[in-house]
Amino acid sequence: MSAPTTTRPVRTPDDVAALGTVLGVWAHPDDELYLSGGVLAAAVSAGRRVVVVTATRGEHGTDDPGRWSPARLAAERSREITASLSALDPVRCRIEHRFLGDASGRCHRDGALVADPGEDTVDELAAIVAEIAPDTVVTFGPDGITGHRDHRAVSAWTDRALRRVPATPRLLHAAVTEDWVRRFAEFAEPMDDAGDAFVPCRDAELAVALELDEDLLDRKLAALRAQATQTAGLEAAVGADRYRASIAGEYFRPAATLFDGS
Ligand SMILES: [Zn+2]
Repeated sequence: MSAPTTTRPVRTPDDVAALGTVLGVWAHPDDELYLSGGVLAAAVSAGRRVVVVTATRGEHGTDDPGRWSPARLAAERSREITASLSALDPVRCRIEHRFLGDASGRCHRDGALVADPGEDTVDELAAIVAEIAPDTVVTFGPDGITGHRDHRAVSAWTDRALRRVPATPRLLHAAVTEDWVRRFAEFAEPMDDAGDAFVPCRDAELAVALELDEDLLDRKLAALRAQATQTAGLEAAVGADRYRASIAGEYFRPAATLFDGS
């Protein structure tokens, strides 16, 4: 634990420092950017340690599998996430990244995380948490935000991992607001077969409701463009202004059920 933390809502870039050391746990390259790119950039600019863990290389994340074989896309997305995290902190490139499975040589399969009971993975994740000693962990809630099964699996793994570490970081789950869902309905389409995707959170419940300033927004946009396999098509489809507006807010709520004994 490296910094004092507070439960006062984070609403401005200056507030982000209060999150202390931040560990993000996500399923696919790009999850960390869409949901927390501004938070990560503001935290590292404030001198906080920032570490991002990604479960898969997102090797099936394409509408054009003829062009992008799983092996080719995995290699490209691995390169992209490194470049994009550097774009969030372009001068010093201090954001750390690792894939789950790096320590064991095991590569998790995109789209198959729920089929993995996760025991070894939870142990690995717990070891990472113990090593990093974050003040704040950011990840998906049980809804997986988009409903994606991989997202929900990562949420459950993170819950389980945090039960295995002696110190208890603050756990925050990515959220959307009613205002965001209303303004950007075309972005809020569920993935997989989940019926509870993009359930908005009331403003009063949010621990983080960060509207990015122009500098953070520029860095987040550059980072997203560095993951072009996932973002170029969407930005072209909706237009640059609309795309930029859609990524300007980042929202997290406190995890409610971590230590309920379940
Ligand atoms: Zn994802």
